[in-house]
Amino acid sequence: MAFKTDIEIAREAKKKPIMEIGAKLGIPAEHLLPYGHDKAKVGQEFIKSLAGKPDGKLILVTAINPTPAGEGKTTTTVGLGDGLNRIGKKAVVCIREASLGPNFGMKGGAAGGGMAQVVPMEEMNLHFTGDFHAITSAHNLLSAMIDNHVYWGNELGIDARRVVWRRVMDMNDRALRDIVVNLGGVSNGFPRQTGFDITVASEVMAILCLSNDLEDLQKRLGDIVVAYTREKKPVYCRDIKADGAMTVLLKDAMQPNLVQTLENNPAFVHGGPFANIAHGCNSVIATKTALKLGEYVVTEAGFGADLGAEKFFDIKCRKAGLKPAAAVIVATVRAMKMNGGVAKADLGAENVEAVKKGCPNLGRHIGNVKSFGVPVVVAINHFYSDTDAEIAAVKAYVAEQGAEAILCKHWAQGSAGIEELANKVVAMAESGSANFAPLYPDEMPLFQKLQTIAKRIYHADDVIADKSIRDQLKAWEAAGYGHLPICVAKTQYSFTTDPTVRGAPTGHTVPVREVRLSAGAGFIVAICGEIMTMPGLPKVPSAEVIRLNDLGQVEGLF
Ligand code: ADP
Ligand code: MG
Repeated sequence: MAFKTDIEIAREAKKKPIMEIGAKLGIPAEHLLPYGHDKAKVGQEFIKSLAGKPDGKLILVTAINPTPAGEGKTTTTVGLGDGLNRIGKKAVVCIREASLGPNFGMKGGAAGGGMAQVVPMEEMNLHFTGDFHAITSAHNLLSAMIDNHVYWGNELGIDARRVVWRRVMDMNDRALRDIVVNLGGVSNGFPRQTGFDITVASEVMAILCLSNDLEDLQKRLGDIVVAYTREKKPVYCRDIKADGAMTVLLKDAMQPNLVQTLENNPAFVHGGPFANIAHGCNSVIATKTALKLGEYVVTEAGFGADLGAEKFFDIKCRKAGLKPAAAVIVATVRAMKMNGGVAKADLGAENVEAVKKGCPNLGRHIGNVKSFGVPVVVAINHFYSDTDAEIAAVKAYVAEQGAEAILCKHWAQGSAGIEELANKVVAMAESGSANFAPLYPDEMPLFQKLQTIAKRIYHADDVIADKSIRDQLKAWEAAGYGHLPICVAKTQYSFTTDPTVRGAPTGHTVPVREVRLSAGAGFIVAICGEIMTMPGLPKVPSAEVIRLNDLGQVEGLF
């Protein structure tokens, strides 16, 4: 069976002018700042004016551990938003913006797929409204000001070997991972080693996504630790006096971007922090604005529920005071089969036994999400090759876990294929059964927080860390950072730190290699395994086939 590609479907979209989409949400035209005809930013004054209004209900879409078979979290987030609108609810979708770099490598787009997409797809995957460029500029302004400070006499006594603030760009470029700067003699400064990360890994990105408003943004930017002195005292962005100018560069990027789904329903696409060394959710300001404007807000968290949902709950919801009403865990028959040991090439053939064998991975995520006090439903994202017996096996397994699995055909059919899930989500949210609480209290010691995540979410026996790491955590507690949540950076493919271990393993330990303080964003990153903050391009990058066709349309994005 031949299907149209995501980009072909997106191009055929019957888009409405963005002012009409805004009007649906009650945003007056003068408060929408248009970027062309199909994108607009929501003005600051308008957002402030919403403060006293009641909030709608927040629905999280998360997933099992990703497999190469693909799960479709964004597709399901967008589909559920359309489904809720179809059954008469005023629903808004909130998702992340796409990083430019990976599109030229091998990653697909970030706008959903099939009949459940957000448009304009090409722009979303390219420059969009320039937010990531602004973040890149703000980040690099601080980098330039640090080296400039050292050049002009180094009044703060920065130890050039202990500058922790690197540079960023929104491109996969492994050549820049480790570099030496300030070469070329006296007039160029003091040579030192540094490197580039991809923009989505910038702490400025995480800060923008967690800030409530521009004042909060500037305060958090000022809190960034950029370097240490020879006495190992922290030097802050505020000491370099960069926070004001960075806020100026970010003033428009802070405003949420409004676009639409293929079915002309509103979607906010704003912010895009990495889901490993940062928290992996769209911006707080977009989510909070959407909650003021819609009855339902459907949002996605990156990776599987062990990383994505845990950080959504323990970092974003905790810090922003959000209380999710329900969670949807996306699973596919194909991914269950892969968890059950089937190779990607053999996914086409029916294999009920493998489905059953793979289901415990899903079961563990159901239990984990419920442990946050959030009611759960499973969305089986239907693929064309799924058989009835395989689908029945997933449903039966989920019923045994005390939850329900609902077959969803939004990828093929749009909102018509996801009504049952939409009704179920409304029933769960209206029942008021949610009683959200984060996994651990703010006052718990940092290492114990990490152990709590490892034991309760990864079902590990313990965390292993050198004395130097434990001492560092104690030093941060003494410096007043003990109340911060932990942001774990580990493989998304497994509950363990070994990407090849699928299913629902027990008896493993979680080794911590390094800890990092993100004082502005407000979390402590625990790095467990190899984490790449500047990706490279594959041998044959997608960029080789991306081009403009005779009609001036973009070819090669997917
Ligand atoms: P995630 O957000 O989990 O990374 P996406 O929603 O972005 O996943 O989907 C990844 C890709 O898989 C997209 O190209 C999308 O079109 C495709 N996809 C999603 N669901 C289906 C489905 N049910 N059948 C076929 N392809 C699908
Ligand atoms: Mg996604």
